Amino acid sequence: MIKERNEKLKIIPLGGCEEVGRNMTVFEYGKDILVLDLGIQFPEEDMPGINYVIPDTSYLRGKEKNIQGIVFSHGHMDHIGAAPLLINKLGNPPIVGRPFTIEMIKYRQEDYSRGTSKSLKTICIKDVNEKIHLGSFTLGFFQVDHAIIDAIGVIISTPAATVIHPGDWMIEHNPIGREKISYNHLANLPRPTVLMLESLGATNSKKPVTEKQMMENIKKLIREAPGRIIIATFSSQVERIKQIIEYGGQINKKVALDGFSLKMAVEIAKNLGYIKTKEGVITTTENISDYPDNRVIVMCTGAQGEENAALAKIIDGVHRFIRIKKSDTVVFSSSVIPGNERTVQRIRDKLYRQSDNVIHSEIMDVHASGHSNIKDIQDIIEQIKPNYYIPVYAYHYMLKESAKIARAAGVLKENIVVPDNGSIIEASPKGIRPLEKKLPINYVFVDGSGIGDIGEVVLNDRKKLAEEGMFVVVVVVDKKTGKVKGSPDIISRGFVYLRESKELLSETRKKLIGMINKTTQSNGPVNWPNMKEEIKNKLGDFLFSRTERRPIIIPVIIEV
Ligand SMILES: [Zn+2]
Repeated sequence: MIKERNEKLKIIPLGGCEEVGRNMTVFEYGKDILVLDLGIQFPEEDMPGINYVIPDTSYLRGKEKNIQGIVFSHGHMDHIGAAPLLINKLGNPPIVGRPFTIEMIKYRQEDYSRGTSKSLKTICIKDVNEKIHLGSFTLGFFQVDHAIIDAIGVIISTPAATVIHPGDWMIEHNPIGREKISYNHLANLPRPTVLMLESLGATNSKKPVTEKQMMENIKKLIREAPGRIIIATFSSQVERIKQIIEYGGQINKKVALDGFSLKMAVEIAKNLGYIKTKEGVITTTENISDYPDNRVIVMCTGAQGEENAALAKIIDGVHRFIRIKKSDTVVFSSSVIPGNERTVQRIRDKLYRQSDNVIHSEIMDVHASGHSNIKDIQDIIEQIKPNYYIPVYAYHYMLKESAKIARAAGVLKENIVVPDNGSIIEASPKGIRPLEKKLPINYVFVDGSGIGDIGEVVLNDRKKLAEEGMFVVVVVVDKKTGKVKGSPDIISRGFVYLRESKELLSETRKKLIGMINKTTQSNGPVNWPNMKEEIKNKLGDFLFSRTERRPIIIPVIIEV
């Protein structure tokens, strides 16, 4: 008993504290472990060929049996996307979440590997007021507003401290059909309390767009559209999609849904009873030509410029049923996710060439952000009055700004910890502090070929290939004499235009022949791997001296 009282709560973010995405946090009390969120991160511009990045879970290797459960705050990909790849690896512990979140995870799991969602152990939070006991942890929950239905805040109670984690959150100042949420009750939880606050809006001083304003604008656009209206949004914006479908029904317009993830989200929401559609309102893109243009609403994915999404297909003219017409109104009901700026800008340019009515959130409030601004961050901290404060789920500079806001909201400096991925933070009634030693955290990359088999080396090669090109030399060597036979073959891509570089190539060939003949004529057996290294280095220096570029050099030596 006494030992237990001295136990500290360890809080270890494994991802999501130096980037937007791959969110994952480990809580450890005694031997017991609880995990919050298993998200993916979308690749940045310096990660060519990477589909996404997942959290590095090496710390949990060998501790699988101690994992009491995994809680999911909501169903966005940066919180659940790595679930199909990691749940089994973590020993298939129970997963906890609201109905929509759990269904999204099951769907993703099936999509990843058919028939495997049945083996998931799910604990569905039916009522926000229920309590769930998992080992030394007691879980409670609270309502939050965010850009997806069934988002939930989590209260993790241990004898050492109580953690309050809203997941992603915002304050909706003018909600439709529900009350504005208050967080005052969280100030009454057993102390000390640790507030871990998603801080993506910590540098945003703009006044938030309210749900009501946004919907009024979208409805007006739908009502007054001279032709078809095509609305691109996030597939997880089920509430918005629902309202648009309902409004379409009211004014006798047809709604066609397009994009796998959007259809999937609507299907799940319909099954759970969140969306009730009037008979005949929803149609397919195949059938929209049966109706006059001004009676058609298309809702689709691809607002981030994703290559294979519905909107890109429509704009590129490769969609099976839809081409953009000048009279179409196209609405981006979305924000630009950090990292996608260039892609979105390109798709907008293409679209502006095809339609005269393109609307996005820079020119009209057609999107309400799911993240709070500076003022609301200060407001929620003042309502919750935490003892300790840990800003999370954003870039480092945003976490630092969030810490400043917490100071302004009255949290003491020594009670604020700005974490990195791999920080180990100990909390107890005596205080909160990060251990000096951090866990090493690697990028775990996922591309078409698999998980984690693309390390930094492969990634560097890809970057180099993209920037400097490649240079393959094929040399045939006579086994008996050790001499180079004929002239070495040279193949290059993305480096120099071979036909205009005859001189460079003939010099390269001479150098190669010289190098190989020198080695093979000397005494003793030839060490070919060493020979190849030498070719790479010497040829690399030579090519650099002539071109100031360093292509990837691949020597191929064939003995005949
Ligand atoms: Zn989210």
